[in-house]
Amino acid sequence: MTICSDLDETPNSEVYFETIKYLNTSEDTLLGKGVGLEIGNTIYFDMPKDQFSYTNTDDLGRRKIHQLIESGHIDCLHSFGDFVSNRQQIEHYWHTIQRGQRQIEVWVDHGQAITNFDADIMKGEGAIQGRDAYHSDLTVKNGALAFIWKGRVTSIVAQNSKRSYASIFNRQAIKASSKTILLEFIKGWLARLGNVKYAMHKNNKVIRHATLLDNTPIIEFMRCNPSWGGVSKFDSARGIHNVLTSKVLNTLVQKEGCSVFYSHLGKVFSAEEPFSKSTKQAFELLAEYFQRQDILVTTTRRLLGYLRILDKLQFTVKVKNDKTFIYVISDFCGEDLQGLTWYVDDPKNTYLYINGINTAFHINPADESGQLSISILWEALKLPIL
Ligand SMILES: [Zn+2]
Repeated sequence: MTICSDLDETPNSEVYFETIKYLNTSEDTLLGKGVGLEIGNTIYFDMPKDQFSYTNTDDLGRRKIHQLIESGHIDCLHSFGDFVSNRQQIEHYWHTIQRGQRQIEVWVDHGQAITNFDADIMKGEGAIQGRDAYHSDLTVKNGALAFIWKGRVTSIVAQNSKRSYASIFNRQAIKASSKTILLEFIKGWLARLGNVKYAMHKNNKVIRHATLLDNTPIIEFMRCNPSWGGVSKFDSARGIHNVLTSKVLNTLVQKEGCSVFYSHLGKVFSAEEPFSKSTKQAFELLAEYFQRQDILVTTTRRLLGYLRILDKLQFTVKVKNDKTFIYVISDFCGEDLQGLTWYVDDPKNTYLYINGINTAFHINPADESGQLSISILWEALKLPIL
């Protein structure tokens, strides 16, 4: 799973960078002792002065932003910002943000930003040819932004598995939680009846292949906020403890699914004390699942890259003289292949070739099915010293 957090209303650069440190290290931070997970963040440009953004921070802040893009910890562009509305600004900011080795490949629509792609669910002109804020030819068509979020959020935790409403029900809030379940149920049925808006809800998959209004192919993804109060409730630091609960996390584990959690971790309690005790306890709970290896927590980009590979992976298996050879052909390489796992009978006599190259793998202990497996080792991202 990942927490895909929009940076809206982050009060200053200290809160922004300390949040990243809190989530990704075990160090003492402004938010408390770090929880040692792997969670990314979003970035945008021109915004009201009281909100952190690329343009509202100083040179040191911008240098840190580039370091964090390079390390993979800032992995999503959250539109170009409230005040970016024409092609000249867009081109300038686009080339500014994409100047390093590692590129941002994930786009997340933001509020009413005109650079959002269309009016499907949000509002925007980014994919409408001829409009001032048209930019998908610059940002998407060439393959730079591969993954696009255009506003779809489900109440169901655990995508890529059967829809389960159970974790949404709350005995202390029967009316509100039942309403959330009913709404989600209706979306599923509307989709079955042909409703295009909720098609992703029915299939309950994180990603789907779609096209923008100018026919640019994209991978669209859906986020989830499995809050009993509905998708727009508890979607920030001031309430995430209602979402990161053992009930929700156990459901994710039982369903063996994956989730891109929708949140706004910059909507804090105060700039001086950003997280409350219950916020910290929620992240500590998630860290327990992570440490037990019940839930792999990673950045949005990495989870989406992994799902894209799973969707398209082609491989052949040949057995010769008791040796097993797995041959993978893939357009993607490096980090994108990490975590791929095959059940095998005899790991010691198994050989893995990726695009013709003999590749090392990790041998996993038998899982609950009793079978052995091999994985391309999942390596943690390294957070730079900020
Ligand atoms: Zn936003």
